[in-house]
Amino acid sequence: MFEGKERFIARDEEEIKIPEKLTLKDLSLDPERITRALLEDERARKEILPQQFQEKLEKAPNPVESKEIFEEVCLYIARVQENNEKAVEDYKKKVVPLLVEALKEVLGKFQVNVNWEKLNNLGIIFLDRYSDWYLRQYRKMEGGVTAFKSEGLPRLIFLRLEPIQKIFEKFTELGISIYLLHELLHFLSKTQFWMAITPDKEGFFLGTRRAGLRVRGKNDQVPHLHHLNEALTQKLTIEASKIFLEKYYFTKLLTTLGPQSREKITQRILRHLEEGYSRERKVLEILCQKIPFEMFVKAYFEKEGFLPLGRALERTLGKEGIRKLDELMTGENYQKIQEFLKEMGFQEVS
Ligand SMILES: [Zn+2]
Repeated sequence: MFEGKERFIARDEEEIKIPEKLTLKDLSLDPERITRALLEDERARKEILPQQFQEKLEKAPNPVESKEIFEEVCLYIARVQENNEKAVEDYKKKVVPLLVEALKEVLGKFQVNVNWEKLNNLGIIFLDRYSDWYLRQYRKMEGGVTAFKSEGLPRLIFLRLEPIQKIFEKFTELGISIYLLHELLHFLSKTQFWMAITPDKEGFFLGTRRAGLRVRGKNDQVPHLHHLNEALTQKLTIEASKIFLEKYYFTKLLTTLGPQSREKITQRILRHLEEGYSRERKVLEILCQKIPFEMFVKAYFEKEGFLPLGRALERTLGKEGIRKLDELMTGENYQKIQEFLKEMGFQEVS
């Protein structure tokens, strides 16, 4: 994974000062830059700029050179970004505290220490289609379809607005909330980094060593337990979403709906959530026949919780069990995982 003469050390998130990058501007996603890139790309500008610009663009042979078009597009993108930044503040004030309440209720069932203080440093970025396009095009930043956290930016949750709007239509606010919930869990999970210490004792932030159940050793090409990490995240998301919908969303945020509509929306949202990582969650469920669920939860949130889980996985799946499970869960063939788990004495679940 790393090269050079550096020494590598693991550090807890709480121990090191990570530069705070909390807005699009901190990431250099400024309107001028995006506008220039967009206008230079004929296909992109046709595809992603709204109708109001298309006629003007057709008339201008070289729109990058046109001061008028440039300024108009730039102003437009600046306004979109500004609105989204305001929306983020709104979500932080109104929605996040309720999501956290729901999470606290779910996690209250377990003897687990969660570092809720981390929420003071939470950064959320709503990606409009223009910034999103730019990130993918020029930073090669890839991530989940709707939401993601990025390796080098541990304080940031990115939500891609357009796909969420497409899925949830009228209920986009609710869609944003449940995707936030999933990412909040990743954010709150125990995080450690790899730092490189050069011979002159300078430390450099390198990447994530641990995020919840997901671990990456010094020499690992790929992280371990990524799939189980997502399984647990989604399982907790589903549990907390039920509480969020029942206790908070319809009573504090969207209060105008009658009981029938509430029920209908709740079912739709839960169905959508159940589709996420369903195969991975099944594997987790099977493993819980022999390993208590609480052990996974502790491993996810606590520094000391990881070793007991590692041992339990080794005990139940064999010495090479974790590696084998990683390999099988990366593949497409769920049948093979079932067979492996059966061999190890687990019962199949339907
Ligand atoms: Zn995730």
